[in-house]
Amino acid sequence: SNIPKIVILGAGYGGILTALKLQKQLNYNEADVTLVNKHDYHYITTHLHMPAAGTDNPENARVNISKLIDEFKIDFVKSTVVQIRTQDKKVILEDGTLSYDYLVIGMGGEPETFGIPGLAEHAMSIRSINSVRLIREHIEYQFARYKREPHRTDYLTFIVGGAGFTGIEFVGELADRIPQLCREFDVDRSLVKLYNIEAAPSALPGFDPELVEYGMDVLTKKGVIFRIGTAIKECSPDGVIVGDGEEIRSKTVIWTGGIRGNRLIEEAGFETMRGRVKVDEFLRAPGHENIYIIGDNSLMFNEEGRPYPPTAQIAMQQGVASAHNLVAAIRNQPLKTFAFSNKGTVASLGKGEGIGVAMGKKYQGRKAAWLKKLIDLRYLFIIGGIPLVLRKGKFL
Ligand code: FAD
Repeated sequence: SNIPKIVILGAGYGGILTALKLQKQLNYNEADVTLVNKHDYHYITTHLHMPAAGTDNPENARVNISKLIDEFKIDFVKSTVVQIRTQDKKVILEDGTLSYDYLVIGMGGEPETFGIPGLAEHAMSIRSINSVRLIREHIEYQFARYKREPHRTDYLTFIVGGAGFTGIEFVGELADRIPQLCREFDVDRSLVKLYNIEAAPSALPGFDPELVEYGMDVLTKKGVIFRIGTAIKECSPDGVIVGDGEEIRSKTVIWTGGIRGNRLIEEAGFETMRGRVKVDEFLRAPGHENIYIIGDNSLMFNEEGRPYPPTAQIAMQQGVASAHNLVAAIRNQPLKTFAFSNKGTVASLGKGEGIGVAMGKKYQGRKAAWLKKLIDLRYLFIIGGIPLVLRKGKFL
């Protein structure tokens, strides 16, 4: 048939919104849409720091894709993409091949370790449901091991590399979980050390300094040991080397210090910066009118020439915009320029605490935590309507 084929790679924040908008806007038989994702569920990445720390169940951070999309309108393929072949407009999956006329790439980021020796091999990272299960179990296991070998206090040292949003939100949760683990395993709280190590001269670089100070104060009171302006030089199975050679012994290093685009994109021959493609104003890859790149895989600059940080917020807006432009392209209508509209940023700092800027106003403490919850509920509503809000939403 000559119905155009649209293939969407990845059902993350970007891809799921592309799919939802296409399913709404396309008329019957206007295009064949296929959505490919590694798992048969969509995960709510912005929530993953909680199950990683063990303060929430991983089930609350995922939704079956079949519950989100209309499978009469969109073909869902559960598979892993292994190669993108732009020359012959094909995507190679682990178990098959798909051909496309239009492609949307939204496969999310990967940890960037900046070549720091040992980090890729020995640190864990928060990036999927499976990775957070591993982190949670690993942390609990260290408490159990310590009970058997009480001289090994290094088992009770936990290192979080990176004090960006993910790092800060994760230490906030883990700081809340540690007292529970100490009670559960009969461990003296004073033996547990939770480090947050950041090479930049400040935590949350670029964020409002007053709020950063408030946030660090809250977390310090919860027992987080900050080492800001301190680079991790090396990571091994026995811990990390920081600054000018100091060793911190630990069996648990969680790296949140950097994100890069998916490796498949540079392997496909796109020009990238840290794995991300600098897209045009319509979100297309340069030289490829039929390929849209969204979310953590794309790179866009603001008016001051600074790259927008990869966030769920921009990924969602790009998902909506790419769907709009795909429909326009199919109908031979003019495409729309993408303009990011920043609604603000809120970071949680564990239970009942947070910091954020929204609509030009600063928020801290309980109000910020409440705002964060509102943002989460709004997202559930956007992708799954009231039924999903009722099923997954947490109101307290
Ligand atoms: P993702 O949401 O990462 O989705 C990518 C999808 O592609 C996944 O479903 C994955 O399984 C799939 N996939 C990957 N590779 C393949 C393959 N080879 N084959 C098939 N499928 C594949 N952002 C905010 O705006 N606010 C926040 O509060 C916030 N908090 C965060 C907290 C944490 C703990 C983390 C880790 C991130 C947070 N972020 C936040 C960032 C945000 O989650 C990301 O920017 C966002 O998820 C990017 O969306 P995406 O669509 O590009 O990719």
